[in-house]
Amino acid sequence: MPLHNHTAIRDDLFTVESMAKPLNVHRISRKERNPEAVYQMIHDELLLDGNSRQNMATFCSTWLEREVQDLMNECMDKNMIDKDEYPQTAEIESRCVSMLSNLWNAKECIDSSNENCSPAIGCSTTGSSEAAMLGGMALKWNWRARQKAAGKPCDKPNLVCGPVQVCWHKFARYWDIELRELPMRKGSYMSSPADVIAHCDENTIGVVQTMGTTFTGHYEPVEDVHAALDKLQQQTGLDIPMHIDAASGGFVAPFMHPEIKWDFRLPRVKSINASGHKFGLAPLGCGWVIWATEKDLPEDLIFRVNYLGGQMPTFALNFSRPGGEVIAQYYNLLRLGYEGYIKVQESCFAAAEYFEAGLEQFGLFELISNSSKGLPLICWKFKDDAKPSFSLYQLSDELRQRGWLVPTYTLPPDCEETVVQRIVVRHGTSVDMLHLLLKDFTEIIEELTETPPCGEDKKRMSFNHS
Ligand SMILES: *Cc1c(COP(=O)(O)O)cnc(C)c1O
Repeated sequence: MPLHNHTAIRDDLFTVESMAKPLNVHRISRKERNPEAVYQMIHDELLLDGNSRQNMATFCSTWLEREVQDLMNECMDKNMIDKDEYPQTAEIESRCVSMLSNLWNAKECIDSSNENCSPAIGCSTTGSSEAAMLGGMALKWNWRARQKAAGKPCDKPNLVCGPVQVCWHKFARYWDIELRELPMRKGSYMSSPADVIAHCDENTIGVVQTMGTTFTGHYEPVEDVHAALDKLQQQTGLDIPMHIDAASGGFVAPFMHPEIKWDFRLPRVKSINASGHKFGLAPLGCGWVIWATEKDLPEDLIFRVNYLGGQMPTFALNFSRPGGEVIAQYYNLLRLGYEGYIKVQESCFAAAEYFEAGLEQFGLFELISNSSKGLPLICWKFKDDAKPSFSLYQLSDELRQRGWLVPTYTLPPDCEETVVQRIVVRHGTSVDMLHLLLKDFTEIIEELTETPPCGEDKKRMSFNHS
């Protein structure tokens, strides 16, 4: 059906004024414009963006089921903060919190009259960054209360962590905390438990460990660090809590590596953040933070809003926020269940292995991490004895010409001289797509070898998380 069925003849879309003449796109115009033409113009401009499915750099969802798209449309007008207006959306958020605290092995608290049995508590956020801010604030508040109770100063808080995602740098700067980020060790590409302990003192608000680092996808040795902190407490009395940044791993480890203890099974783990919009398979804009028990979230950080005659606690940086992402997360949790998530993540790991085998065939690359030690992410560098006539940056540039975004970056200190390339295999990255990517690798490597690129290899800042 034509959109303008009230006029017998309508102008061709590309001949209406807003399409046919240059527009000032930096000032709001006086006049209205034709919506179809403006839509078409913006739609066309967005063609210049990369194609998200070929963005091998991102951890975030780029493929979503039809049902998720429908629910997102239906929830476009729902404001997550209006618990009173949209009580079912609020209810669904709290069901997700229950499901996730159970997934991460929080203690079941059926008997609410038992004072020692405090249930897990948590909320949705815009992503892991906001979740990390909230988790970090709780650590800071609790530390301050401990220091005050002991009559000690509270003006020099620090946070100890391995090589972290940029959100922790932000957290430290915004909340005035010294970030003691430990160096990445050559070989393990992580920090060691001994490093962690050596940097802790009575001003340490907590230790952050990452389940699936952004640089290499490795799981940090949470259980070993936990044991080392236990020992520290025996020796010095310092009782230091842990927060786990499980942005990706929170939705991978429980399904693929359930034997690894990194979650609320470990008593020092007081809070966990995860990105629903990464391996949680929700659309962009969904994160989670959960505390082991209500007692781990300081009461004075919680705002209580009236919720259908009851009290709904909220803890968030923003006020208004869309509700659709949380609904879509709920859809995935219900629709997939354990078996479904396992199937999805298994297929990512299988595709990652396929790609690893393909990479090895070039004889040029050494894998820094492979999917057997963490996320379905592959990170590689040139072999020490390889003598390539091109750089990884140039390889990325050539891949970019074919639409693939394969990031090249240097690792953080003390591995900063190591230049790596990485792909994240996520839902929707099929073996067939990776076959096509490998084919492009083959052709480009042949071309670059036959005709070595001339000129400076500019080490530009390409996309990375650091
Ligand atoms: C992606 C990521 C973050 C930031 O998460 P957002 O959901 O993008 O805000 C934090 N930590 C780690 C380990 C990550 O991978």
